[in-house]
Amino acid sequence: MKYLVLLVVLAVAIGIWRSRRVPDDAAPRPSSPSSPSPRALPQDMLACAHCGVHIPQAEAVMRGDQAYCCTEHRQLGPA
Ligand SMILES: [Zn+2]
Repeated sequence: MKYLVLLVVLAVAIGIWRSRRVPDDAAPRPSSPSSPSPRALPQDMLACAHCGVHIPQAEAVMRGDQAYCCTEHRQLGPA
């Protein structure tokens, strides 16, 4: 009986240890060194129609099919 209790305690301890260990291994693992985040992917660069500065497509201010670096240049229009 004494050994049975010891065995149960040991089994529970191993169960807790394993359930704690698995997420620790999974969580901090870097997904992939080649692509750390979606933001690091190459973005399409657009030239401002007013001043010609290149901005990422996500940050460009669009008017029709023309891109601008800021709302000020969008209001000023193409140079
Ligand atoms: Zn501009």
